[in-house]
Amino acid sequence: MACPRCMSVSVTKDGTTQLGGQRFRCGLCGRRFTRRSSSAFSGRAFADDIIVLAVRWYVRYRLSYAEVSEWLAERGVLVDQSTVYRWVQRFLPLIGEVARKYRDPVGPDWRVDETYARIRGRWHYIYRAIDGRGQIAPPAGSSSAPLPPAGRRRVGSSPTKRARTRQR
Ligand SMILES: [Zn+2]
Repeated sequence: MACPRCMSVSVTKDGTTQLGGQRFRCGLCGRRFTRRSSSAFSGRAFADDIIVLAVRWYVRYRLSYAEVSEWLAERGVLVDQSTVYRWVQRFLPLIGEVARKYRDPVGPDWRVDETYARIRGRWHYIYRAIDGRGQIAPPAGSSSAPLPPAGRRRVGSSPTKRARTRQR
């Protein structure tokens, strides 16, 4: 265990945190820290596994923040729904980044969904490719490319039609 501030390995145990984790003190700079001091979970009042579980429930079961809060409460963990909201905002992108490494390669069959949406007064082309197993294929996302000429635009789904109507 090295000190996250000065990287010294002259470190001693220094009691436990409120969550029951081991706390350490650096013999060189005096900084107190835990194993998760240098992780994204640093400073959070709840254990890492609770946070990850809440975020997983939110996306896996399409629960609301209030429902995740309720599910946790049924298991004796009292978390406000606004805290669940902050966890999802903070950790979902990080979890997605980590999970991306473990994805299967995109299969040979895939479909693309596309639409235009007006965001802050500008038209954006939004598309997403999904392969046969439901994996989102890269490149996913949107671009702010200008709209193609009206007559040549490919129109597939109703959101696109709605977007066109609003444009006029
Ligand atoms: Zn140190």
